[in-house]
Amino acid sequence: MQVMKFGGTSVNDAKAISQVAAIVVDQLKTDPNVVVVTSAMRGVTDLLIDSAKAAARGDRQKYRDARQTLIARHRDAAEALVLDLDDLGRIQALTDERVREFERLCMAVAILGELTDRGLAVISGLGERLLAPILAAAIRARGVGAEFVDASELIVTDDNHASAAPDMAATRTATRGRLLPLLAARAVPVVTGFVAATADGVPTVLGRGGSDYSAAILGAALDADEIQIWTDVDGVLTADPRIVKSARPVPELTYSEAAELAYFGAKVLHPKTMLPAIDLGIPISVRNTFNPAFPGTRVVPKTSNGGTVKAITVIRGLALVTLAGRGMMGVPGIAARTFATVAKQDANVLMISQASSEQSICFVVPEPDAARVAAGLEGAFAGEIHRRLIDRVAVEPQVVILAIVGEGMRGTPGIAARLFGALGEHSLNVIAVAQGSSEANISLVLAAADADAAMQHIHAAFRLAG
Ligand code: ASP
Ligand code: MG
Repeated sequence: MQVMKFGGTSVNDAKAISQVAAIVVDQLKTDPNVVVVTSAMRGVTDLLIDSAKAAARGDRQKYRDARQTLIARHRDAAEALVLDLDDLGRIQALTDERVREFERLCMAVAILGELTDRGLAVISGLGERLLAPILAAAIRARGVGAEFVDASELIVTDDNHASAAPDMAATRTATRGRLLPLLAARAVPVVTGFVAATADGVPTVLGRGGSDYSAAILGAALDADEIQIWTDVDGVLTADPRIVKSARPVPELTYSEAAELAYFGAKVLHPKTMLPAIDLGIPISVRNTFNPAFPGTRVVPKTSNGGTVKAITVIRGLALVTLAGRGMMGVPGIAARTFATVAKQDANVLMISQASSEQSICFVVPEPDAARVAAGLEGAFAGEIHRRLIDRVAVEPQVVILAIVGEGMRGTPGIAARLFGALGEHSLNVIAVAQGSSEANISLVLAAADADAAMQHIHAAFRLAG
């Protein structure tokens, strides 16, 4: 069994959707059990969310305009793809009904003047609900059975509406109960990504970009042989190709490498995608809808092709916060108080580094949160600052984290030397360093202005271009 997930660019218009249908039909030649998961058309989720937020501020024009766009994009696609007139009529009626629902929801938000996470989950999931029936019809138009399925019937989650977590046992029962009979009847289920529901049937979503996660959850529930993530690039790349011209797709990654890269902003896979697959050892492949002959990247439990560093990634828009002072040495609880304070400011910490001299702790947060975090720390450590045990809370804005990722680095000497050599040779300054004991990731803090050059030189130093 194959679970095939298609992203927003892959279903952006009639031409792309037709290509997707062709890929699905082709897959059926080698495996008759195929489950399709789809995102919304590119830009649609953003449009839905922006409209809902505008409505909450009393702006009703935004959703009225969005309504026209939604109708036009989906109706046009259906008209080009669905040949059977009865089928087309049903699909267009469904599109109109969904868009009316969108309008009614936004109207309610405008009247209430408030947008709850629960309301946003319903509105933001409409893009997948609009698209999946059209994709199912496009597959049927190629003479293959296919049926639209709303994932709120399959994926059971907690009530964290905007970024819900699945209950795998309940999901497994629901998914198998609904999809296995369809597969037995030779119909390809075409399932909405991103959306789910609580056990009581209240709609939830799995977080932005969550359709990949939907596919992995369904793959695990169905004991699939493979989870295929179809996107618009040739796989996970060694670096951002806009910055490193010689970047190329990585043929194979382990789950942990893929998770590190996803977390560090490579954006090809949602970071949670690996979770359901790991337990069952289900391979994930990243494929290009617009270059289907290319094998892409395979994510597997263990890689055979060796290699030390597999890829480089950069997270931008960060600031480095440093708490420093001679009085911190040997005092227990400073780190605990520091991070408790950061947590109270609701800021996400992306990296931590403390030298063994214990005279400073530094950590990286998103730049917009830095001033708030620093003020919080100054408050929390006011006593120590007054007694001169802590000298300062400093914020260095405009930094990036550059991470090199590869499980083969574990136990391989000389990686750090090569990394720092490449930077030193080109006079690129390293502000802070962290390496987890997994040794699968070395992270550096650099000035934002140095990020691109650092990426290029490190890519060359590790010969990632092949
Ligand atoms: N449509 C959703 C989003 O844009 C989910 C996805 O595309 O993966 O976040
Ligand atoms: Mg995505």
